[in-house]
Amino acid sequence: MEKDNVCIDCYNQIDKVSKLLNLGQAELDILTIPKRILTFSFPVKLDSGDIRYFTGYRVQFNDARGPTKGGIRFHPEVNLEEIKTLAFLMTLKCAVVNLPYGGAKGGIMVEPKRFSEEEIEKMSRGYIREINGFIGADIDIPAPDVNTDAKIMAWMLDEYEKLKGRHAPATITGKPIALGGSKAREFSTSIGGAYVLQELADKKPKKTTVAVQGFGNVGMNIARILNEWGYKVIAVSDSKSGIYNKKGLKIQDVIKHKEKTSNLSKFKNTKEISNEALLELKTDVLVPAALEDQITKKNADKIKAKLILEMANRPITPEADDILLDKNIFVMPDILANAGGVVVSYFEWVQNSQNFYWSEKEVLERLKTYMTNAVKELSKVCTDFKCDMRASLYINAVKKILEAERLRGNLR
Ligand code: NAD
Repeated sequence: MEKDNVCIDCYNQIDKVSKLLNLGQAELDILTIPKRILTFSFPVKLDSGDIRYFTGYRVQFNDARGPTKGGIRFHPEVNLEEIKTLAFLMTLKCAVVNLPYGGAKGGIMVEPKRFSEEEIEKMSRGYIREINGFIGADIDIPAPDVNTDAKIMAWMLDEYEKLKGRHAPATITGKPIALGGSKAREFSTSIGGAYVLQELADKKPKKTTVAVQGFGNVGMNIARILNEWGYKVIAVSDSKSGIYNKKGLKIQDVIKHKEKTSNLSKFKNTKEISNEALLELKTDVLVPAALEDQITKKNADKIKAKLILEMANRPITPEADDILLDKNIFVMPDILANAGGVVVSYFEWVQNSQNFYWSEKEVLERLKTYMTNAVKELSKVCTDFKCDMRASLYINAVKKILEAERLRGNLR
């Protein structure tokens, strides 16, 4: 464990399944030590004329199954340990949904709100100048993450192509459609989660009640999609307020109301509900789609949902997870529930590589196949190993990664 660069958080996560899989030291090393870590600082000329240095990272965790894949985030709390863990989780995620990829993550330690658009553009281009020798369509493929978007991906791709002197759209995904982005990408995470729920839910949509915490990109879109499919969405919330109607909400109207008033509250025929109360509602399905650590040992005992679909990253703490397990509440873990985005990123890469573009219908049909196959596969692992979904997910991903390492001759 005193080895340089070992990811302690990754080690702790793997620890849960290492006995079940009988993992030896070489396997643990492969699973917890990133293959390649870049840490760098680079200058950006600000609008004032001053030059400021920023710290950037790119971690390529494991590439046994294919080129590494993962987003780039701009956030003041970005640090190497966090980027290592996120790159490790991307490795597991790509394996679980059967993408021919390893995992990576990158970021800049910066509060983007404090900088102008021109400064963000220079920062994005500067970041790519630092990592351009280490990325590529068959090496490592970045994408958007927290505080980065299609516009930033367009600047990054443009900088990369200028440096290389050729077009290379498959190097970066999450691009605008005009530069080779894929149809359906903006709501791919949400619809991917909805396909997972459809595969798991045992009742008809009209008889299934759903409560959604968070009304941003992921929460709003999954509430809208499930409602369009006939599910009864009884409550939604954002950071300011929440609304509840046991007969169900018409989400398209809620979206219009929020666009008009910038608020969910005072929507017709609803009761105001706090975020805490939303999590504790009597509902068939609870969808945390806002922040991490929302269900903790303090409130886990009060959760009444039958199924929790983790659309946010790590909304349930490990202690709360154990309590939910004891209460027989079914939890579909984030690594699979919110994998729709990376699956459509993969489709974007395939389309760029072939220079042949698909309709939205084709993208969604293929996404559904990937998501439902992954659920079926996990359910089988669950039965075979007699364990919960989260443990099954780690078992499934770890087995696939180690098999690829073994075939390459990196393990006995
Ligand atoms: P977003 O910023 O668009 O939306 C976040 C929403 O959560 C907002 O509506 C905000 O008001 C709400 N919120 C903030 N604090 C809250 C609180 N205390 N209680 C209730 N609501 C609160 O973010 P997003 O892109 O929708 O991401 C949501 C989650 O999903 C994050 O955990 C993110 O890491 C995860 N995720 C997103 C994607 C993606 O494609 N966007 C992919 C994988 C995972």
